[in-house]
Amino acid sequence: MNRPARPARFPLPLDRLAAGAKPVAPELLRPQRPLQHAAQHAAKNAAAQGQGAPRGLGLDSAAVRARMVARLRTEGLSCGPVLQAFAQVERHRFVDTALATQAYEDTSLPIGLSQTISKPSVVARMLALLFEGESARAAGHLGRVLEIGTGCGYQAALLTLLARSVVSIERLKPLHDKARENLEGHRHGGLRLVFGDGRLGHAPNAPYDSIVAAAGGEDLPAAWLDQLAVGGRLVAPVHDATRGGQVLLVIDRQPQGLARRWHDAVHFVPLKSGTA
Ligand code: SAH
Repeated sequence: MNRPARPARFPLPLDRLAAGAKPVAPELLRPQRPLQHAAQHAAKNAAAQGQGAPRGLGLDSAAVRARMVARLRTEGLSCGPVLQAFAQVERHRFVDTALATQAYEDTSLPIGLSQTISKPSVVARMLALLFEGESARAAGHLGRVLEIGTGCGYQAALLTLLARSVVSIERLKPLHDKARENLEGHRHGGLRLVFGDGRLGHAPNAPYDSIVAAAGGEDLPAAWLDQLAVGGRLVAPVHDATRGGQVLLVIDRQPQGLARRWHDAVHFVPLKSGTA
C-alpha cells in the first residue's frame, strides 16, 4: 500500500523540546554571511585558554547552526521538525576541540577508533525519510526509536528532540562512554544508551516505530525487521551488489508485509559484529 507523501507536521509541542531551546527565528533561517572566521577565532581563543568545547562568539551562536539549516533547506530538505532539531543541537560539542571549527560544514568528521560522524546532509536525509513513515506521519513524531551506531551521540541528540523514546546501541566501549558524556543533558526523549552488538537490535524495548542505522553491512540483520512495529519504518545503509556500493534502504512494515525501496548512494562506516 503506497500512500501519497504528505508534508510532516511539526511533531512536538515546544515543551517537549530541549530545555531552554527556542523555535528558530525566521531571520536565522535565511542565508547569512560566512561565520567561519569568527568560529575559528573563537575556537583558537578557547584552545588557548585550555577550555573544552569552544564558547563565546561563533560556535555557541545559534546563527552558526542557522546557516547550516539554511544550507540544508537550499538543498531541498523541507522537514520542519528535522530542521528545528539541527538548529538546536550543538554539533561542535560532539567532536574533538581541534575539529570544532569544521562542525557546521557539510562534512563527515573523525570521532576516534576509525569511526566518523556522518555529514549533516546525510543525517538530515535519513531523519526526514524516517518522518515519512506511516506511523511517524500519523503521530507527527518518530515514536519509539532504535539507533544502531551511537558513535559520538550527535544523531542520538537530534533523535531525542524528534521521538518519544530512543534506544541507541554502540559496539565500541570507548565511544559508548564518550557518547554518554556528550549526551549529558539530552535525556528529554527518554534516551537509553546500550553497549552491545546492534546487529541483534534491542529486544527488551521492541517493537520500534523507527529504526535507523549509522553503519552499513552486506545484509540487513533479521533482528531489525523482527523488531520493527507495524506502520514502522527502517532506514539503513546496505551494500547493493547491482550498484556496487552502499545505498540507503528504506523498509516499511505494513500490515500485509514489508515494502522495500532503495534510495541514495551513501558511504557509511562498516556494520561489524560483536563488541570491542
Ligand atoms: N550516529 C553516529 C555515527 C557514528 S558512526 C553519530 O552521530 O556520531 C557509526 C557507528 O556505528 C560507529 O561508532 C561504529 O562503532 C558503530 N557500529 C558499527 N557496527 C555496529 C554494531 N554492530 N552495533 C553497534 N554499533 C555499531
